[in-house]
Amino acid sequence: MGDRFSAQDRFAVGAQYIGGELRPGTSGQQHTVIDPATGEQVLTYDLASSADVDAAVAAASAAFPGWAGATPGERSDAMHRFAAVLTERAEEFAQAESLQCGKPIKLSREFDVPGSIDNTAYFAGAARHLQGQSAGEYSADHTSYVRREPIGVVGSIAPWNYPLQMAAWKVLPAIAAGNTIVLKPAELTPLTSLLFAQAATDAGIPDGVVNIITGAGRDAGEHLVGHADVAMTSFTGSTAVGKRVAEIATSTVKRLHLELGGKAPFVVFDDADLEAAVHGAVAGALINTGQDCTAATRAYVQRPLYDAFVQGVADLMETVRLGDPFDASTDLGPLISHAQRDRVAGFVDRARGYARVVTGGTAPDNDGAYYRPTLIADAAQDSEIVQAEIFGPVLVVLPFDSDDEGIRLANDTPYGLAASAWSRDVYRTGRATREIQAGCVWINDHIPILSEMPHGGYKASGFGKDMSAYSFEEYTQVKHVMYDNTAVARKDWHRTVFGTR
Ligand code: NAD
Repeated sequence: MGDRFSAQDRFAVGAQYIGGELRPGTSGQQHTVIDPATGEQVLTYDLASSADVDAAVAAASAAFPGWAGATPGERSDAMHRFAAVLTERAEEFAQAESLQCGKPIKLSREFDVPGSIDNTAYFAGAARHLQGQSAGEYSADHTSYVRREPIGVVGSIAPWNYPLQMAAWKVLPAIAAGNTIVLKPAELTPLTSLLFAQAATDAGIPDGVVNIITGAGRDAGEHLVGHADVAMTSFTGSTAVGKRVAEIATSTVKRLHLELGGKAPFVVFDDADLEAAVHGAVAGALINTGQDCTAATRAYVQRPLYDAFVQGVADLMETVRLGDPFDASTDLGPLISHAQRDRVAGFVDRARGYARVVTGGTAPDNDGAYYRPTLIADAAQDSEIVQAEIFGPVLVVLPFDSDDEGIRLANDTPYGLAASAWSRDVYRTGRATREIQAGCVWINDHIPILSEMPHGGYKASGFGKDMSAYSFEEYTQVKHVMYDNTAVARKDWHRTVFGTR
């Protein structure tokens, strides 16, 4: 496995990646990345100023004509090389991701890193499918066809929960379609976005195609969204910040893509495989320490299975091993920060006043930002713990009686990112897939994602899709080209403007 990844060594020059080079930020303010498992400092870096954002946008603008003018095959070749470089560096990526997020190394190695490499390979292929509709004579006198063209410089903003995958989901469809990009990762987690951009350069993707700005949301983030030379904003993060981003993007008239919060329901009908549902609920609730926008957060269990489900989930949660993220046997790492841990604990502590903590609800006594897997029962549907996005290892469970009630409760939050339904009855699951309002509905599973399939929200979870051909299309604009076929100077339709027939 070699030496542990050292961020101070790797980013000694600075943590802004502009035009193919690392440099320091010039805001005069610093940020320190903390290892949430220990509280130790990982990297202190200079945050980006507005001038750094301007420099990154200028680098992306300068790179745009050449990259947009490359053939799809040339872009595809470069991206296949990119996937190969990522594969060679997989262990470095896994270590950096676990260090900055506190993710168990087995999750980084088996999910975040291979998923991002697969995404890169997928979009390398997609790059060759930049297609408009086939041509046709929709008027007798004209031939029309449609071109799909890149949009220009994309400004993207990403959250801290899956920094590498978020960088991949933002960068890859954008550059596959011929755009250039400036990505701002979350201040807490800049490391793997920087490594990702460096790998792109090392694979031969031209300087300026992928730029990383590491700065504060209110400063660098807002400046990027409002920038006149940025043609599209793609944002993943909380619904609250998404609304602010939407205001700025709308006032500067640019294409907008929002991937926001979630509060995924997990609906267990009374004919479900109980063991599968229990295991699925614990895995779906605890993945990434529950800091997953699609995590199972609200389990609705039909009355006949309810008591056994609560007992089964509580028993299984108690077997989950918290520990050092770099220990391959650790199941659950810390939350991203002590502040996030305290926020999660606050939700649970308030819930004690109106609900029952079945298991968990405490933090172990160590320096890390850990919180035990927590199951909460007896909460009302309109209570905070059922309605709000907690973003921690907390599952709330409620009973229901009729199928109508289960589906109604599943839809009863502002969010609509993901959901699952558990049953052996194809008619019940079919109904759930039709009636649950979410961008993804799993049947008898919860969490798996695929590069080929879209990820994105309904309702307050936003709009726009990541991954898949749908995402690729969003990073293009459609142009109608219309040819006159008659060679007639005085066209018949001119009489509607001047003269007579
Ligand atoms: P956040 O909204 O606080 O921050 C996200 C990003 O926005 C960060 O880079 C931050 O610096 C930046 N930002 C903050 N204020 C800004 C502003 N005023 N203008 C521009 N940028 C600004 O979210 P977070 O706490 O980093 O991440 C957790 C949230 O992300 C959760 O709500 C989660 O559901 C959501 N999320 C959604 C998806 C999805 O695909 N829908 C995926 C992952 C995470």
